[in-house]
Amino acid sequence: MNKTNHSIGTLAPVLFVLLAFCSTAMLGQPYHFAVKHAHGWRSCQGELTISQEGITYQDSKEKHDRKWVFKEVQQVRLLSSKELAIVTYEDQRLKWSGDRSFRFILLDGEITNSLYRFLLEKTGKPLVAKIAFIETGPTYQLSAKHLHRWGGCQGTLIFSENGVIYQTDDKEESRTWLYSDLESIGPMNPFHLRLTTNETSRFHYGGRADFNFVLKEKMNEKLYEYLWRHIHKMESPSNGISSK
Ligand SMILES: [Zn+2]
Ligand SMILES: [Zn+2]
Repeated sequence: MNKTNHSIGTLAPVLFVLLAFCSTAMLGQPYHFAVKHAHGWRSCQGELTISQEGITYQDSKEKHDRKWVFKEVQQVRLLSSKELAIVTYEDQRLKWSGDRSFRFILLDGEITNSLYRFLLEKTGKPLVAKIAFIETGPTYQLSAKHLHRWGGCQGTLIFSENGVIYQTDDKEESRTWLYSDLESIGPMNPFHLRLTTNETSRFHYGGRADFNFVLKEKMNEKLYEYLWRHIHKMESPSNGISSK
């Protein structure tokens, strides 16, 4: 046996273990959280597990144990880094309309970017992320004020290769949108941006939520075109976000 073969032979098991470890990490180990299940005025506590098989909630006391395979999950709503809701296709009891949802408050850990990606992949459906998942790649940023019915909140719009992020300190106001979560963009106006998202709006039946931003810095036409092309899926890979 020559020297080269010998060292590869010795390394092989180590490499195998490393690769196995990496692929398990990428596939996603189950996520376990101690949670509070919120229902009306009361709540119960248990464990929420998000794994390859789906989402389970185990609670010994109130018999609220549930298990959903991913196709039974209509939408996951990440309400903050500590709170999420699972919207099912079940009808809501004693209500005119609406799908039944289950709200959980995390008592330990937090909702990470990797869990967000995992849920996106597993459900294969758009989800609502009221969290700003900042990306490491190149971004373009604009200070902005998000307009509410009354007043607004202050934050930063971050445009990346994958989508648009709005980061603010206001509770439930941050967002992460993939370009596929955005339906349209308002007409070019360097100091105003309207994003029509796939998030359903409580105020318009079957309506889509519009997000209106006053831009504190001028948006250049190139960025507008970049957004338009990505939202309407006409992007060209060579047209990077960093190009001004
Ligand atoms: Zn419960
Ligand atoms: Zn806001």
